[in-house]
This record gives sequence, C-alpha cells and structure tokens, in this order.
Amino acid sequence: MTESRTHHSEFDSDLHRTAIAQLDRVASKLKLDPDVHERLRHPRRALVVSVPVRMDSGNTEVFTGYRVHHNNVLGPTKGGVRYDAEVSLGEVTALAMLMTWKCALMGLPYGGAKGGVRCIPRQMSAQELEGLTRRYTAEIILLIGPDLDIPAPDLGTDEQTMAWMMDTYSMTQGKSVPGVVTGKPLIVGGSKGRKEATGRGIVYALAEASRHLGQDLRGRKIVVQGFGNVGAVAARLLWAEGCLIVGVSDVRGGIWNPRGLDLRQLDAHVAEAGTVTGFPGADAVSNADIITQPCDVLIPAAVGSQIHAGNAERVKASIVVEGANGPTTPEADVILRERGVTVIPDILANAGGVVVSYFEWVQGLQHYFWDESEITKRLQEVMTRAFGRVWALGNKESTDLRTAALMEGISRVAEAHRVRGLYP
Ligand code: NAD
Repeated sequence: MTESRTHHSEFDSDLHRTAIAQLDRVASKLKLDPDVHERLRHPRRALVVSVPVRMDSGNTEVFTGYRVHHNNVLGPTKGGVRYDAEVSLGEVTALAMLMTWKCALMGLPYGGAKGGVRCIPRQMSAQELEGLTRRYTAEIILLIGPDLDIPAPDLGTDEQTMAWMMDTYSMTQGKSVPGVVTGKPLIVGGSKGRKEATGRGIVYALAEASRHLGQDLRGRKIVVQGFGNVGAVAARLLWAEGCLIVGVSDVRGGIWNPRGLDLRQLDAHVAEAGTVTGFPGADAVSNADIITQPCDVLIPAAVGSQIHAGNAERVKASIVVEGANGPTTPEADVILRERGVTVIPDILANAGGVVVSYFEWVQGLQHYFWDESEITKRLQEVMTRAFGRVWALGNKESTDLRTAALMEGISRVAEAHRVRGLYP
C-alpha cells in the first residue's frame, strides 16, 4: 500500500474510515482500475470556512462550516447541508462520497457533495439561524451554483434554510436564481412532494423488499428512530398503509406502545409539545433501547452509527431500512448479515429526497411545474427500478444489498472516469 493509500488524517472520522473501507472492498470486488480507484478515494475539493454570527445577546460567535465536492464526473454536485454539533470535515467528506454513489445508483446526472455547520440549531433563535445561513452561504458562494453544486436540506436544516440560501445567492447575482438549491418552499420554486420525498421513498423501498420476500406490509410492526422530516413522513405513510407504528423517538427520547400509536394524535402532540416524549398512552423508551425493541421493521432515521457492535445482536427486526445516512457501523453490518436481517442501505433507501430534488431542479430550469401525482408516480418508478437492479445484482453476486448498491453506483462513476480520461 503506497502512502497515498493510507488514511488521510485531515478527514479523520469514523464515517470517513467506513466510507473508504466500503469503497476499497467494492473496488476489489469490481476489479476496479487502480488509478480510478485512487481518484475516487479523494474528494475533488473541500472548503473550510469561519462563520461569524451576531447572536441575540449582542456578542459575535464564530462557527465552523464546510462544503465538500466529492466527485463531478457525472454532472454538477448535489448534497445536503447539515447543522449539527457533530459536523466535521471528515463526516462531511464521507457523506459527500455517499452522495456520489447514491446519485449514480439512481441514474441522476449529478456528482456528490455535502456541507454543514457545527452548531446546535435547536438552541439558536430564528434570527441567529438566518444570520448563520446567510454568512455560511456567502462564504461558500464560489463553490455553489445551479450548474456547479446544488445544496439541499439535511439534518437540522429545512425549507426556510433553503429560502435564505437562495435569497443570499440571488442577491449576489442581481437576479433570482431558484436553481441554486432544492428543497425550497413552493412559493419560490420548490417542488410539490419534495418535503415528503425521502420518507415516501423509504416506503417504496420497503414495499419492494416485502414483495420480493413474499411478505405483506399491512399489519407489520414498525419502529422509527428520529421523528424528523424523514422519519415522521415514513411513519405517517406506513400508518396509512395499515402498518402498526409501535415506537418512535426524537433527540429527547422515545415512546413505545405495542398495540400501535395513533399517528394523527401523535402529530397533534408534536405540534404542541415540540417532541414525541410525553405522548399520553405510550411508555417512555430511550434512544438506545428503541433500536432493540421487538418489531418487524426498524427504520433508523436520525443520525449515524446507531446500530453498532454493542446492540446488533439484539436487533429484533427482520428488515432494517436506513433512513439516516450511515446508521449501521461496518461491524454491525456483518452481525446483521450473519443473523439473516435484510438491510436496505442508505444510498438506496433514502434516495427519494435527491430524486425529487432532481425533479425540482429540472422543473425550475424549465420554468414548468408538475402535479404532485406526476412527481409521486415518477418517484415510485425510479425507486422501484433502482431497487430491482440492486436486488438482481445481489442475487447474481450472492451478496448483500449494501454491497450490490455500492457496486452499481461505484461502477457507473468509474466507467464515466474511464471514458472521460484524466485531464490534462
Ligand atoms: P431532521 O432534523 O428533520 O430530523 C432529525 C430527527 O432526529 C429529529 O426528530 C431529531 O430530534 C432526531 N435526532 C437528532 N439527533 C438525535 C440523536 N442523537 N438521537 C436520536 N434522535 C436524534 O432531519 P432529517 O432531514 O429528517 O434527516 C434525518 C436523517 O436522514 C439524517 O441522517 C439525514 O442525513 C438523512 N437524510 C435526509 C434526507 C432529507 O431529504 N431530509 C435525505 C436523505 C437522508
């Protein structure tokens, strides 16, 4: 192993080590050209910025922000912006790499990127968050644009964040540039169905897995960790499909009722209390315990590394659908595989968001907007097709769905590098 093949300390993080190990494993399975493999191990460019913000107290606080483009061989880069206390250069770089494989797997004309600011958004006022977002956008402005790199919401960010980013970018251009971000509010060029897209995609992926496994979705017991944009939508849609939502959680803790939660009442409780905890008619359960509660399907939809070597043996679900990015550590992945648990991997399961972001971008570029039914139909087609390809490759190669999904995504990116060659 040459020195450049050893780990790069500036990107040091668990998730980055995992992402590199996954790439190396799949590269050897695919017998990837070693030169292309080496290029894929490195991000194309990475920017670290200081983000000074005038806080409500009158003091100025300086936050650290990042934007990383992993690869743009298939098109402009695309990826979320996360506001979280754990954000680091390594985490953002790993997530950008996962975005590259995800976009390629779904057949989208994008490369992978990711961004974020290390902060605790729930402890900040709307005014502070607006200041943070506008200054972060200004600091990374050379790296973003509708045909260069298009941010979207992720952990701790939402439609409002995207509206502020779009406005800040537009002000520097002297005109409205809606195509610079996706996941915007409808009124400024957002797409119908974008907010629900990731959760909806999870449901399509689970439905396809159930169909291939000869199981019925109705009546299945579901646990969802993370009742945010992704998890709450998935829970609501599965409840409407006749599933029993037996447990959900958010950062404050979880709730549990083996007879099933009433999602309409839960939504009303969350709207008032701002958390699922304290919901009447359910027992309290911790975020650690919710992973191992008895259920048929576990949907981790919060943060990374929630299923690990210490709890994977005790996971009761027979299907894990990864709503979050990187919720399963590599050690846990092996344990789940050996125990016969079907894991629908993040780059497939949560790809609905970037698929509808792509639809939003296309609608914006054409100034022509589609009905929600059109978007839902096309999302289902793309998800079902991708699932089918991954399932078939998994069978052909006698491998798990994560390896198959990575093989599919990575081989497309590698092929594009092969035909484009190396500049200069
Ligand atoms: P969100 O901020 O809307 O929701 C996150 C939820 O997780 C909240 O309920 C929050 O309270 C909870 N949470 C946060 N930290 C936690 C912790 N340490 N333990 C337990 N719960 C915690 O974010 P989101 O957009 O729903 O994203 C959730 C996950 O899905 C992230 O991993 C994100 O990368 C991934 N994802 C999001 C999208 C998207 O379109 N928003 C697309 C693909 C993947």
